[in-house]
Amino acid sequence: MEQKEIITDHVETRSIMTKSNAPLGGYAVNPYVGCPHACRYCYACFMKRFTGHTEEWGSFMDVKEWPEIRDPRKYDGQKVIIGTVTDGYNPLEEKYRKTRLILEQLKDSGADILICTKSDLVLRDMDLLLEINKKNRLTVSWSVNTLDESFKDDMDAAVSIERRLAAMKQVYDAGIRTVCFISPVFPGLTDIKAIFERAKDQCDLVWLENLNLRGGFKKTIMDYIADKHADLLPLYEEIYNHKNRSYFEALEKQAQEMAQKYGCRFVDNETPYERVPQGHPTIVNYFYHEEVRGTANSGKRNRKS
Ligand code: SF4
Repeated sequence: MEQKEIITDHVETRSIMTKSNAPLGGYAVNPYVGCPHACRYCYACFMKRFTGHTEEWGSFMDVKEWPEIRDPRKYDGQKVIIGTVTDGYNPLEEKYRKTRLILEQLKDSGADILICTKSDLVLRDMDLLLEINKKNRLTVSWSVNTLDESFKDDMDAAVSIERRLAAMKQVYDAGIRTVCFISPVFPGLTDIKAIFERAKDQCDLVWLENLNLRGGFKKTIMDYIADKHADLLPLYEEIYNHKNRSYFEALEKQAQEMAQKYGCRFVDNETPYERVPQGHPTIVNYFYHEEVRGTANSGKRNRKS
């Protein structure tokens, strides 16, 4: 997918920290409104409604300006998730450095920080990441739902899967907790076993999340499947029109067997990622978690990317 020309603006916000309604609490941080990665399945496009944007999702971005955090220690022990409705390391971060700024403001806070991204720009901030991680307070997650670059290109305008995996390895090798977030799992297209085998020696967690087509992008995805993978259309209709869960139930079983084969833990979605032991991946099952989890600042979900 070609990156669109981005219309950029600046917006002032009273606070960059948004209290999450999720059961585990914490805060969501989104230094930008909008996201140039323009994923076709992006649930965060509901942000257009909240922010009055009428442009196509992926074609605009507001750079947030916020007052300095006066008392970072207030977030001691809290979860802080950077990038719940944008990617803090989108290409415009290179110029605006807002994600770096928030990391600088939080570096001595004692918060457990999770960065969710589809980029390798995060490597620019390795100095800061290492400083924050001195007390093991940092996790970096990359979304990887395919090893097929052409399918990736059909779905998003972010960097290649290979670049994401290379960044993951570099951060993992530096001793920082990493996540391979296999999301969204596209039935018939996402090969969780192949991705797991590719990433298992460079991540501490593997998160599994199903493709959810309840958002306004259902038609976009169904049309794409009809056009490019017509043989899968009956499967998609079964799952997304007839609510048949057997595909994801079978996948959950496959993930369990995979965990057993490689001696990994297989846990449910409530396991606190920041306490998972490092070194050998733990597989976390988030299939259908949107039905049981609360929200961040979205009113719907507590994570993304
Ligand atoms: S990276 Fe995340 S926020 Fe950005 S477009 Fe993709 S799904 Fe949406």
